[in-house]
Amino acid sequence: MESSIITQVQKEDTHLPSKTGQVSKSSPKKPRSRNIFKALFCCLRAQDVPQSPPPSQDTLLPPEDNGTIAKIPGTSLLPEVTPQDQGKICVVIDLDETLVHSSFKPISNADFIVPVEIEGTTHQVYVLKRPYVDEFLQRMGELFECVLFTASLAKYADPVTDLLDQCEVFRTRLFRESCVFHQGCYVKDLSRLGRQLNRILILDNSPASYIFHPENAVPVVSWFDDLEDTELLNLLPVFEELSEADDVYAKLKQLRAP
Ligand SMILES: [Mg+2]
Repeated sequence: MESSIITQVQKEDTHLPSKTGQVSKSSPKKPRSRNIFKALFCCLRAQDVPQSPPPSQDTLLPPEDNGTIAKIPGTSLLPEVTPQDQGKICVVIDLDETLVHSSFKPISNADFIVPVEIEGTTHQVYVLKRPYVDEFLQRMGELFECVLFTASLAKYADPVTDLLDQCEVFRTRLFRESCVFHQGCYVKDLSRLGRQLNRILILDNSPASYIFHPENAVPVVSWFDDLEDTELLNLLPVFEELSEADDVYAKLKQLRAP
């Protein structure tokens, strides 16, 4: 049941800790700055991501779950850039295990409880926010044109994002139907966004999501329930630097260099 709504629900769901161990947000830990980026690329460098040939027209037009054809080629997933975002790099941000973790398992410390109807029955989805997600989104909204892109279904992800994105940082929200179903995975094909590829970044815990464009990726460790996690806080200085890039490929290459 879970996988039909949320992209991943892990066995750890049954062991979510209480919020008593949460770190104080009033005294954030010092960011590890660029080191975290390098550390992340040590365990997940772009070249380690399984390479896939450029998607053929056939893979760009996969049958969806309901058997219909996905998208008309040539159309962009994003609307035109708004005046406030002119000149900004576009950052595609994942939801599950990047910004939040959700579960059908009742937990006492959920940040949100979202009712989702599945086949006529309403289920409660318990959502935990990743530590520092509010600070992260606020700053990202100042620096970039931010797009939420999730392989989850809109009927779950849209209400969660309504609750999460209080500052309305996300200019556009893209859901499962905007993904390309490729070799058993929902892939976020950045070439369909309607933005220059060298001006797009993707932040996602799942390398399969960006298998067509690993060179645009800022990897992030999957998050489930670690209340001491500081990944989002640590990534902010990296994104500050990336926001000033003319070409994200050059800047990411520089940041990945040992
Ligand atoms: Mg994810």
